[in-house]
Amino acid sequence: MKTRPRALVIGGSIGGLFAAHWLRATGWDVRVFERVGDDLASRGAGIGTHEELRAVISRLGLTVDETIGVWVHTRICLDRGGRITHQLATSQLQSSWARIYRLLKDAFPAADYRFGMALERIEQDAGGVTAFFADGSRERGELLVGADGVRSTVRELLLPEAQPRYAGYVAWRGLVDEATFSPPAHKELFERYTMCFPDGEMMLCYPVPGRDNDTRAGRRGYNHIWYRPTDGREALPRLCTDASGHCHGISIPPPLIRPEVTARIKADARELLAPQIAAIVERTGQLFFQAVFDLESPRIALGRVALLGDAAFVARPHVGAGVTKAALDAECLARAIQAADGDLDTALSRYDRERRLFGSRIVARARKLGAYIEAQLKPPSERTEAERQPPPEFLMREIGTINLDLKALTAPEGATP
Ligand SMILES: Cc1cc2nc3c(=O)[nH]c(=O)nc-3n(C[C@H](O)[C@H](O)[C@H](O)COP(=O)(O)OP(=O)(O)OC[C@H]3O[C@@H](n4cnc5c(N)ncnc54)[C@H](O)[C@@H]3O)c2cc1C
Repeated sequence: MKTRPRALVIGGSIGGLFAAHWLRATGWDVRVFERVGDDLASRGAGIGTHEELRAVISRLGLTVDETIGVWVHTRICLDRGGRITHQLATSQLQSSWARIYRLLKDAFPAADYRFGMALERIEQDAGGVTAFFADGSRERGELLVGADGVRSTVRELLLPEAQPRYAGYVAWRGLVDEATFSPPAHKELFERYTMCFPDGEMMLCYPVPGRDNDTRAGRRGYNHIWYRPTDGREALPRLCTDASGHCHGISIPPPLIRPEVTARIKADARELLAPQIAAIVERTGQLFFQAVFDLESPRIALGRVALLGDAAFVARPHVGAGVTKAALDAECLARAIQAADGDLDTALSRYDRERRLFGSRIVARARKLGAYIEAQLKPPSERTEAERQPPPEFLMREIGTINLDLKALTAPEGATP
């Protein structure tokens, strides 16, 4: 009997799990190596989904039913006084990082997924790839998938010049329980996608699965995400400095964010956002933030190594498509290998061509949507036309609704559906 070729997947988050499932489904013996020591399900927050994400999950044979997320059919924009200024009928399923992770992780054989395995180094030769881990162990496979996120070790080893670029703003995030809404606030807000656009900023709020991924009425969660200009030289390191004065770099574990920093965010919310949204920020137990980056890799296939998900390209979150992109990358990789009948050179060069085009287009789309927030760090006289704040109608239509079909994404401007 022919032995199955082995794939080593570095990174056991959503991108790594999609890669693992797709390769396994197409005949590979897959091992996943995740640096973190235990289950990742407590991570993350709400995510917008796309039709394409549900379709990829279904093609894997996993269940996509009503428990995958919360449907929202209306978007509203609130002004500073709390009045609805714009309304748009559009349907989108809002899910959460943990819900998608759980679905993928539980369906993958536990014995082939190893926590606490930090990749340090790789060696390639004509026959395959050897991965060396921090605990001194090594593994060998015919293919290695770098699904290790925006700070990818795999990319750093092979393409050190491809560095994420800080976009000049952060996303302040938080989650509150549905049960904390008063009946009038629930009626007005809960089942809608609500947006506020203070000058140079963007606040988005929507329902998501609640604790333990519960999507039953009364047990859901409400996610908010507030994009705020934050200069990378001083303000960001200050945000990332804990009470002992230690700066954690460009992110900080949420419990270490200084209380005066979150108090400031809550005060700004009262000053800049609709009162009903400021009230939600106020009662959020743990506010946290993520710096926003752009990343474009000049190549995503290098010998026997493929980069995938955020390790390959990071589009700003305004397209709400990181998870879907990772899923589509994984499917493309597996299908390209299948179509090439095991000829990895042909397969990987096809993967590189198709997903690099997709990745660079989506990064450009997302950058355009966030250009006005980034431009707040420049004096107004230096801002270009493309850096002016678009009207709310435009942002309400475009945020998170991109058509992820490659043909549509690469169609000439104006012809995109
Ligand atoms: C503010 C914000 C909002 C977002 N909103 C959305 C949204 O609405 N919709 C959406 O689809 N996406 C959204 N995203 C993007 C989405 O979260 C990511 O695109 C997605 O999680 C990418 O997954 P990944 O598996 O490629 O990378 P990651 O989730 O970063 O996973 C990388 C994994 O690799 C592991 N790792 C790293 N180094 C090593 C190593 N050396 N050895 C072993 N393991 C390693 C890490 O521990 C981690 O588990 C958002 C992102 C942000 C920042």
